[in-house]
Amino acid sequence: MENNCIFCKIANGEIPAATLYEDKEFRVILDLGPASKGHALILPKKHAENLFELPDETAGKAMILAKKIAGILKEGLKADGVNVVQNNGEAAGQTVMHFHLHLIPRYENDTVQVTWKPGTLTDEEKNEILGLF
Ligand code: AMP
Ligand code: ZN
Repeated sequence: MENNCIFCKIANGEIPAATLYEDKEFRVILDLGPASKGHALILPKKHAENLFELPDETAGKAMILAKKIAGILKEGLKADGVNVVQNNGEAAGQTVMHFHLHLIPRYENDTVQVTWKPGTLTDEEKNEILGLF
């Protein structure tokens, strides 16, 4: 547990939260400022700041858990879709520096914005990126 990390405290039960699911490694809670009805957060109990710090095994389990919880939310709330969102770094919109997955149920004609304007890919950029792999 990291000092003064609110999600460490919530995940480990030091601060109460509306818990949808809990096991040895994870707690799934309702987001306090939901983008939509059923917006939930998957929190690993062991602190990792972001995806890059997360152990591979935990990353795998988090996605399996996302599939399970998102399915229950989608069916139970009769949602039309679900966004799985995960922010890394301030520039990417991360505000709590403890890895978490957002599960955001989506409803036809809702006003949630998880979107971007399509840009363009130049040959130079494409070659730069392809050269990384
Ligand atoms: P992010 O911007 O990806 O770091 O997301 C942080 C999320 O945590 C936001 O959607 C907040 O509404 C949510 N949040 C912050 N504090 C709490 C809390 N105490 N309980 C539940 N959700 C929280
Ligand atoms: Zn933490």
